[in-house]
Amino acid sequence: MRFHPDPEPITDDDATIRAGVAGVPVAPLLAAVAHLTGDTTILRDELVPDLTMLLDPEGGYTPEQAAAGRELAAAALIRHRDSGSKPAAPPDDVHLRRLVAFVAGGTVDDDYLPLLEEELALDGTDLRAPRWRAAELAPQRELRVGIVGAGMSGIAVAHRLRQAGVPVVIFEKNDDVGGTWLENDYPGCRVDVPNHFYSYSFAQSPDWPQFHSTQPVLLDYFRACVDQFDLRDSIRFGTEVTDARWRDDDQRWDVHTNDADGPAVHEVDVLVSAVGQLNRPLMPDVAGIESFAGPWFHSARWEHDVDLDGKRVAVLGTGCSAVQFLPHVAERAAHLTIYQRTAPWLLPVPVYQDDLPETMRWLLRHVPDFARWDRAFIFARTQEGLLPLATVDPAWEPKDRSVSAANDMLRELLTAYIDSVVPDGELRSQVLPGYPPVAKRVVLDNGVYPAMLQRPDVTLESTGIAAITPAGVRTVDGVDHEHDVLIYGTGFQASKFLTPMRVLGTRGADLHGRWGGDARAYLGLTVPDFPNLFLMYGPNTNIVINGSIIYFSECEANYIVESVRLLLETGLQSMDCRTDVHDAYNERIDAGNRTRAWGCSDVNSWYKNEFGRVAQNWPFNLLDYWKQTRAPVASDYEMR
Ligand code: NAP
Repeated sequence: MRFHPDPEPITDDDATIRAGVAGVPVAPLLAAVAHLTGDTTILRDELVPDLTMLLDPEGGYTPEQAAAGRELAAAALIRHRDSGSKPAAPPDDVHLRRLVAFVAGGTVDDDYLPLLEEELALDGTDLRAPRWRAAELAPQRELRVGIVGAGMSGIAVAHRLRQAGVPVVIFEKNDDVGGTWLENDYPGCRVDVPNHFYSYSFAQSPDWPQFHSTQPVLLDYFRACVDQFDLRDSIRFGTEVTDARWRDDDQRWDVHTNDADGPAVHEVDVLVSAVGQLNRPLMPDVAGIESFAGPWFHSARWEHDVDLDGKRVAVLGTGCSAVQFLPHVAERAAHLTIYQRTAPWLLPVPVYQDDLPETMRWLLRHVPDFARWDRAFIFARTQEGLLPLATVDPAWEPKDRSVSAANDMLRELLTAYIDSVVPDGELRSQVLPGYPPVAKRVVLDNGVYPAMLQRPDVTLESTGIAAITPAGVRTVDGVDHEHDVLIYGTGFQASKFLTPMRVLGTRGADLHGRWGGDARAYLGLTVPDFPNLFLMYGPNTNIVINGSIIYFSECEANYIVESVRLLLETGLQSMDCRTDVHDAYNERIDAGNRTRAWGCSDVNSWYKNEFGRVAQNWPFNLLDYWKQTRAPVASDYEMR
């Protein structure tokens, strides 16, 4: 996969150029073509996208407007071809602002512009790269950072630290990089965020083969990043971190590991946990799991050797993972029974499983920065347009089915979609959720899942499960259902941050004991009494509707890198989050989450911990997190 290829000159005829822009989202198309050609006259006022259009990924154009926009883009590309396909000079500030404002819905405020510029990383300029070098700030000091996990977050922070010349060692329990994209290899696994957005700002590519790529493609991407950024030698594969202990005397971390050679201890100055939230399988709290006589496994530990052909297969769960693999199981099983506890809301995305059409590949060869402008457009849409759909209106009643007028409108749109794909009365009543949209993660759909539900050899079972028996499943109505294979699509132990590692901070403070199952951190990153420990994808850094988790990891990486800089600049050894800062922050987070559908609704979800508190989600917009993670505020910490 290429990261920053030059545009190929256009030599094709007019018809090929027009075909190359057909079906392409108009707003990023116009911005990308204006950027390539320097012709900003094509950014017409009447073609500024409306980012608040609920379900229209295009931005609310009429068919006539979309056709006019594409014709403007095609005509500009034809002129570009005729004048020799020479790319315009990089845009000056005024020109750039115009381009960015266009994809952002017409205006862009001063705070937001630099964020979008970083996300765009035009011409391969990595604006988030640290501008300092450890050797210049503290030539006599070797501050070493240990990172636990070589998944998406660990790769991001390792790359950033290495850019600043900070030595890193990455402990990875698996034999390869990729984290969740390595471990989840169930059939149908793919990302539900478009790849132009679900990719690092510093490693964008026009070569994604699908809109939402499959797991093998994503795994290759992360492997390619590790090679491109020369990180492989810094990774200790097959090395599991069991304990981390803070040494009060000289203020360093001892990292206890286990690998093929047995236990070892490594000393680091700063420790980063990049272990993710969604990789420790959650088995349901149902009696008798071990008693089942046939093969059974969890979706994140898929047993590819188990033969499903002609078998009576049961699947527990209808979350994002299950909805992706169920159609593949249905193709093979003699009969598939799906045990559904809570129906997911289905969000129609027609291109969800599509390869990029050849015409769009043509565009990406000749206008590779279309991928960047598409990213900026998706970013602006999710930042500006989608969060209001989840926002609670205190005056809105009743709140059991929707939490505001906008949320109710979304409910109507999604209900109409279900009506169109599941016309059958009884099945429809089973798949129609009874809680507000976005209170749980919505599941992307292109019609494949509802079509599968309507197969004669598939049963959707909504009766609760009483027990697993040697022969199958006993439901609470006392009926025994016989199955040959059981598959658990029952999610992850997301609230058990950092388990099973044991983490001991100042004066032996135990992190899990401190949390007592209710994990909290300042900015999701730091915890009082655990100096120089930074958590990536920590408490309250998950997003539900607005954004890509890679964005959060990049913000966190930035904060960690700037924290290392603070330590180097001040000559101090440690920074320990102040309790009052941490507590006040968490109050703001909790109050914020109560204003969102996922915090207001009492529907069960992995966003909540055992106490019912939303421990996963960031309740504010993307700009807020970016602003707060630009750099640590020294007064938020006890600096020692
Ligand atoms: P999940 O969303 O937690 O879904 C677990 C499913 O198992 C739910 O349907 C749950 O029902 C059901 N379940 C749990 N215990 C049960 C029990 N005792 N009896 C019956 N059903 C039970 O897990 P997931 O599908 O693995 O997804 C987790 C998250 O991973 C997603 O929200 C998403 O953020 C991420 N993910 C992303 C992708 C992607 O990008 N493509 C793919 C997969 C996952 P309830 O709803 O009633 O709890």
